[in-house]
Amino acid sequence: MDYEPIKKTLNSLAVPPNFLDYNQICDRFSWEEVRRELDGLPAGKGLNIAHEAVDRHADGLRGNRLAIRWLGTDSTILDFSYADLKKESSRFANLLAGLGVEKGDRVFSLAGRIPELYIAALGILKNGSVFCPLFSAFGPEPVYQRLSKGNARVLLTTRALYKKKIVPLRERLPQLQHVLLTDVEDDLAEGVRSLPKLMAAASTDFSIPSTDPEDPALLHFTSGTTGMPKGAMHVHEAVLTHYLTGKYVLDFHPEDVFWCTADPGWVTGTSYGIIAPLVHGVTNIIDEADFDAMRWYRILEEQKVTVWYTAPTAIRRLMRLDLKPRQEYDLSKLRLIHSVGEPLNPEAVVWGQQVLGLPIHDNWWQTETGGIMIANYPSVEIRPGSMGLPLPGVEAAIIRRPSKNTVNVVEEPGVEGELVLKPGWPSMFRGYLHDKQRYRKCFLSGWYLTGDLAKRDEDGYFWFLGRADDIIKTSGHMVGPFEVESVLMEHPAVAEAGVIGKPDPLIGELVKAFVSLKPGVKPTNRLRLELIGFARKKLGSAVAPKEIEFQENVPKTRSGKIMRRLLKARELGLPEGDISTLEADE
Ligand code: ATP
Ligand code: MG
Repeated sequence: MDYEPIKKTLNSLAVPPNFLDYNQICDRFSWEEVRRELDGLPAGKGLNIAHEAVDRHADGLRGNRLAIRWLGTDSTILDFSYADLKKESSRFANLLAGLGVEKGDRVFSLAGRIPELYIAALGILKNGSVFCPLFSAFGPEPVYQRLSKGNARVLLTTRALYKKKIVPLRERLPQLQHVLLTDVEDDLAEGVRSLPKLMAAASTDFSIPSTDPEDPALLHFTSGTTGMPKGAMHVHEAVLTHYLTGKYVLDFHPEDVFWCTADPGWVTGTSYGIIAPLVHGVTNIIDEADFDAMRWYRILEEQKVTVWYTAPTAIRRLMRLDLKPRQEYDLSKLRLIHSVGEPLNPEAVVWGQQVLGLPIHDNWWQTETGGIMIANYPSVEIRPGSMGLPLPGVEAAIIRRPSKNTVNVVEEPGVEGELVLKPGWPSMFRGYLHDKQRYRKCFLSGWYLTGDLAKRDEDGYFWFLGRADDIIKTSGHMVGPFEVESVLMEHPAVAEAGVIGKPDPLIGELVKAFVSLKPGVKPTNRLRLELIGFARKKLGSAVAPKEIEFQENVPKTRSGKIMRRLLKARELGLPEGDISTLEADE
């Protein structure tokens, strides 16, 4: 698994990046300085995400700049300048205030990627209320769980989703006072209102009330990869991280056109699908449609996307297809590609380089961290398979725990251990909803425990090994499923792989792989043996899978993460646990 580092030279970059010398930036770093690059509310009234994202541009030099270009599934295109966005989000804030919705009240959305969702998100933040986005494909029960857990007072949704998912629950949600429907002309019933009507009646002038940087702003549920999703709470100060990562990782420049493919139902779709690009005043592309390779390449071409943020699952889906995007599409404007959500197989980084003409920059973070924490940067060498280096201002380390409550920070390179962060970055979650104990358990000896395992090399690059829960212990070795999955993916027949440990009386756990094949490849016994041999050659027999099972698809969360716990539960005939976030077509 030896991949050459991908070197960067200033000549190889389309524009000079926002920093050249990583170490220098880290040495000089201070969050106070980042704070000074933002405006703050006028008259010293604090810090509000929506002011930084919208109003300051609308009132400044970027008022007419395209803020959001929305691409509908039916090929409609809607454009919003920063000035438009200010007016519309102010209307929404006024509308909320008119309904008696107050600071700190939670306003949920359950909708696809429609313009109203983005306007609402910003209006909610302006009003000092808390934005809680839900993924529109959730069934009624997961919706109920989250709305009731979050004491939703207001819900923005569409008529169809309301009928299908909310009506059956309405009696169980007594605290839900207002449902705002985006696509009805008139109110449907008491408390079920027409959003267009309310918006038309609302004023476009809104003055953001004082907002303390510690005021709650966002509530995000985790992906549910390892169990029941948790509600992570974030505050307005998070915008410092959104801004900083927009500058250093996504490398925003004033004329950029940015496209983040994530849905706001997941933290990436809010932190980077809404906030970060707007805070930088760039153009943010939003596509309503789901993944479609040709459509995606067309969007990159037609919208002249310069910076693209997507996920390993999507990249693996593109890799499966025998397309030649650079010959078939004009991708010449694209200068930077990023990926998050899951480990990015080194094969995918190299594929980017070969097929798209640009390497893919992996970065690591969690719902809890609110923003990117470890990343590959435009000016820094990429080591394929590595998550990169910590964000300037963030201290990451590897620890070992000789006993449950003692922490040894590992200084030597190459040692596997728990990935931890030094608390204190602005977008750190401030708690799990209704679960103080669980929150407290995330901290030990002054570190935040991420629950992931990793190692650091001699130059400070972090390498993901797996989630603590997924690590396989076989014949005295610790095997990270990602390593095995990545090797299987190097085989031309393999589209995707999910690897688990299966209890075995002799060796502790046996490495078992579930493999989905590229279109047209037949799942034969010969291929199975070939894959085992292939993996053995690369990984050695202790680490290579002993069993391989072919599956049409590897089960994933809706945010695109392989659900190894589900593969394991099914393999062992155990209860499947919470599968509210499982992708439906699996
Ligand atoms: P839950 O906490 O409910 O089990 P989850 O951890 O999948 O779900 P998220 O917060 O959406 O919920 O995902 C964060 C996790 O995703 C990280 O802890 C890590 O395991 C994984 N992850 C994210 N980005 C990367 C990456 N670049 N490389 C490896 N793993 C990543
Ligand atoms: Mg998690």
